[in-house]
Amino acid sequence: MRDKVRLLSAVVALMLSAGCAPSGAPSGSDAGGAATGTATTTPPQTVSFPAASPGAASTATAVPKVAVTLFRSVRIFDGKAEKLTDPGNVMVRGNLIERVSSGSIETPADANVTVIDGGGRTLMPGLIDAHWHAMLVRPPVASLLTADTGYLNLLSGAEATDTLLRGFTTVRDVGGPTFGLKQAIDQGVLAGPRIFPSGAIITITGGHGDFRPFTDLPRSLGGPLTRQETTGASMVADSPDEVRVRVREQLMQGALQIKLTAGGGVASPHSPLDASTFTEPELRAAVEAAENWGTYVTVHAYTPAAIKRAIAAGVKCIEHGQLMDESTAKLMAERGIWLSIQPFPDELADAFPRGSEQWQKAQEVFAGTNTAYTLAKKYKIKTAWGTDILFSPGLARQQGALLAELINWYTPAEALIMATGTNAQLLAMSGKRSPYPGKLGVVEEGALADLLLVDGNPLADIKLVADPAKNFVLIMKDGKIYKNTLSH
Ligand SMILES: [Zn+2]
Repeated sequence: MRDKVRLLSAVVALMLSAGCAPSGAPSGSDAGGAATGTATTTPPQTVSFPAASPGAASTATAVPKVAVTLFRSVRIFDGKAEKLTDPGNVMVRGNLIERVSSGSIETPADANVTVIDGGGRTLMPGLIDAHWHAMLVRPPVASLLTADTGYLNLLSGAEATDTLLRGFTTVRDVGGPTFGLKQAIDQGVLAGPRIFPSGAIITITGGHGDFRPFTDLPRSLGGPLTRQETTGASMVADSPDEVRVRVREQLMQGALQIKLTAGGGVASPHSPLDASTFTEPELRAAVEAAENWGTYVTVHAYTPAAIKRAIAAGVKCIEHGQLMDESTAKLMAERGIWLSIQPFPDELADAFPRGSEQWQKAQEVFAGTNTAYTLAKKYKIKTAWGTDILFSPGLARQQGALLAELINWYTPAEALIMATGTNAQLLAMSGKRSPYPGKLGVVEEGALADLLLVDGNPLADIKLVADPAKNFVLIMKDGKIYKNTLSH
């Protein structure tokens, strides 16, 4: 007993001397906790290669052998250029791409070397989905509000593994309680993509993301939280002060960007599509809190009014934008605002009863997709791609097929650059809050080793990404191979 007391006081003293507040936050041994802390000095969060941690390279003694993977004879799509290179070689050491060369590469003698003979196949960056909801993909909408949270977490874990095995090595999660899932993946408890979480979607009373039944009304300020809030799915905020609290709570838990809903939405039961929800001061409170923390706010918005108000408040990214008009597109381009958009699949509407209000709203939004992409191209808006798959394991299996749909507006090369190098630029807006120091979405020396080996040339046939089980013969994330059908 006395020993325990002594240990406890030693821990508290250590925390105080290290400048840490002894709060209820996860302990220092928790790798996922790095999301809120010292990102630049945090070792890459993998359990695979201990020697990849900073400092290991400078101490030669008694260090376990570093893992090296040499890809021989691969043509490279680097996530930037619209063409493949001639056959060359790529060496991964630890979790980084160390060398890219058209000539042969010597492998180090002091490493565990795996050689992959690419046989002229295409090596490309892992795919990035810029609009994902890791917790909301599999469960039907009704069970999300009623099912046991342990069950929902396990569903999302299984989905995360499948997501990675579809070649998506990173997802930008724009709403849902994904902090625990991210922590488990980063610790190597289960296989899944890197997650850039937003935490709870922040909405106004009745706005997009407010799924409360009327029986939960009226809410008294400071009163008990409802189911959607206690699970961390969405938070209701109705004043700049409330917004500030909810935003800071997400940041405290490791949100890498903040997501608000600035206008009405399809899936939510109460918000009309044409509604603008947060006021400009409310949006500005979120922007100020996020920027003070070193990151940014993105908003769900379809209409010109909602988009323009968000931009006026300092928001840096618009999710969707399907109902935008010419002047909105022009404004976005002038201000360098990101558009994170997707061609919604028709099946998404089928999550709702045919003819229902939500189904009707879906038709209205879907009809705007072509206009939005045409305007984005015309004004050269910085454009990211993400699926926004919700409540449908069937659609999740089509994640790559949905990417291939971009050929309605872009060349295969343009579409694949968007889903790799360009999406990574949007992720980089999280700055030092990202727990993954290093470049994502590109094949270049020094970048993080998230790689796919594709049986064929996706720049010639983008449909290859629609069937990852067959065509992605090797999937690597953070230097670790998760799938390899070339080896016997
Ligand atoms: Zn969404």
